[in-house]
Amino acid sequence: MFDTVYDVIVIGGGHAGAEAAAASARMGSSTLLITMNLQNIAQMSCNPAMGGIAKGQIVREIDALGGYSGVVTDKTAIQFKMLNKSKGPAMWSPRAQSDRMRFAECWRTMLERIPNLDFYQDTVTGLLIELDKIVGVRTSLGIVIKAKTVIITAGTFLNGLIHIGDKTFGGGRAGESASTGITEDLNKAGFQSGRMKTGTPPRVDSRSLDYDKMIPQPGDAQPQKFSYLPDTSPLQAQRSCYMSHTSLEVHAVLRSGFDRSPMFNGRIQSVGPRYCPSIEDKIDRFASKDRHQLFVEPEGWDTVEVYVNGFSTSLPEDIQDKALRLVPGFERVKFLRYGYAIEYDYFPPTQLTHTLATKRINNLFFAGQINGTTGYEEAAAQGLMAGINAALLVQEKPAFILQRDQAYIGVLIDDLITKGTEEPYRMFTSRAEYRTLLRQDNADLRLTPLSYKIGLASKERMNRVVEKQEKTDLFVSFLKKLNFFLFKIFFDFFFDLESKSKAE
Ligand SMILES: Cc1cc2nc3c(=O)[nH]c(=O)nc-3n(C[C@H](O)[C@H](O)[C@H](O)COP(=O)(O)OP(=O)(O)OC[C@H]3O[C@@H](n4cnc5c(N)ncnc54)[C@H](O)[C@@H]3O)c2cc1C
Repeated sequence: MFDTVYDVIVIGGGHAGAEAAAASARMGSSTLLITMNLQNIAQMSCNPAMGGIAKGQIVREIDALGGYSGVVTDKTAIQFKMLNKSKGPAMWSPRAQSDRMRFAECWRTMLERIPNLDFYQDTVTGLLIELDKIVGVRTSLGIVIKAKTVIITAGTFLNGLIHIGDKTFGGGRAGESASTGITEDLNKAGFQSGRMKTGTPPRVDSRSLDYDKMIPQPGDAQPQKFSYLPDTSPLQAQRSCYMSHTSLEVHAVLRSGFDRSPMFNGRIQSVGPRYCPSIEDKIDRFASKDRHQLFVEPEGWDTVEVYVNGFSTSLPEDIQDKALRLVPGFERVKFLRYGYAIEYDYFPPTQLTHTLATKRINNLFFAGQINGTTGYEEAAAQGLMAGINAALLVQEKPAFILQRDQAYIGVLIDDLITKGTEEPYRMFTSRAEYRTLLRQDNADLRLTPLSYKIGLASKERMNRVVEKQEKTDLFVSFLKKLNFFLFKIFFDFFFDLESKSKAE
């Protein structure tokens, strides 16, 4: 059935897998994307938003390099905000909320337009390794598919275990099965693996909420967009979010469930994302705070489903229900999905090189959450870099590596492979020592020429950068001249005054 040897096989169609497959295929490599469910390409497993502080810069860098995350976000956005506007421009960070269902649909449409890219829905259960080199994969149907390179982007699915209160069951995400076989094959090949955890809040029915009791959080009056290309435009209309608060009463109810919480009764041992804590973690760690903010974020243009940002939890359903009902505006709340926590396998990223290829097995790459990161943006960036480097490896061309002073993506990969990570790694501006240079508004000037040189960024994208650079140079030389003339006017004026006073 699969009688070709693909240049690149990408396992997993999440944010990392989608970018990886798009990049390698667009660079001329025959690519096969194998994923468990073709309906869920680049599924937003948690909050329906892209960007944010330091993450927005990454999305712009992905776009500047010719990746698709920025374009897809623009095309499916429902709200746009430039964060950190009160700080200097280097800290400004774009964030957009997207329509979750349209986001996945738009990604699939864009991938389907790429020649060289094939799709196959199945689960990879084994890796074919010969003499320290990956040569293909085996699927749950027993099908063997050969490839010159393989990129694993299995996200939270490897031996995934979902927890809600005292209930535990296998799964890679709510409603989707876990993936087994890959970790076991990698361990056999000598790789080290570990366990991490993450969690997500409940989704509720918008019609059951009382928005009059909440504070509206509108988008920017003049929204911008992510992509440097003219193919997308800023939003004309936006959906508002709302804010409410927990209270001591809510905290007391949540505490009453701690003995049934997998995090507090010792059933979950693995480390979670420190900067995205669950609500039970927040009230435990910040016990002196009498309230926490909750943001009600719509999941799309025409769905009643809303995401309760700030209420990530794995407490039992009855506690989630009872506690949320005490939050202003949620008195008659109807749940669509309960919050849950998930534990999964990851592979310490010190086992990788700067190209995201593994040191142990030739032609095998890892990208995304499998490397111990958290977040769509971090995953997408790694996928893009792994896709580029897999294609370059097959074409016997030099590797493509971004340095720490060139991009947040360079910082991300360098941090991962040199320092490793013991907790889910997310990007911050403070991690980038060259952050004043790595602005969200100059990613095109920094990165498009590099990407154009390796054959990924289009001619059109490059032409726009050349035009922008010429205009910038012209303006800078005008300012320099202006400075000179102003200096000359002041100099002449004072020299004139001085000579007059001497003459007197
Ligand atoms: C419950 C939950 C809560 C989260 N909370 C946060 C948060 O608070 N903050 C944050 O920044 N991020 C959070 N995330 C993480 C965010 O969703 C991920 O960082 C991001 O989606 C990772 O992208 P990825 O491409 O690496 O993997 P994923 O998006 O997980 O995609 C993996 C893909 O691989 C496929 N796959 C897996 N195994 C196989 C196989 N063997 N064969 C074929 N296909 C396979 C899956 O079907 C899926 O399409 C959360 C994720 C989950 C599940």
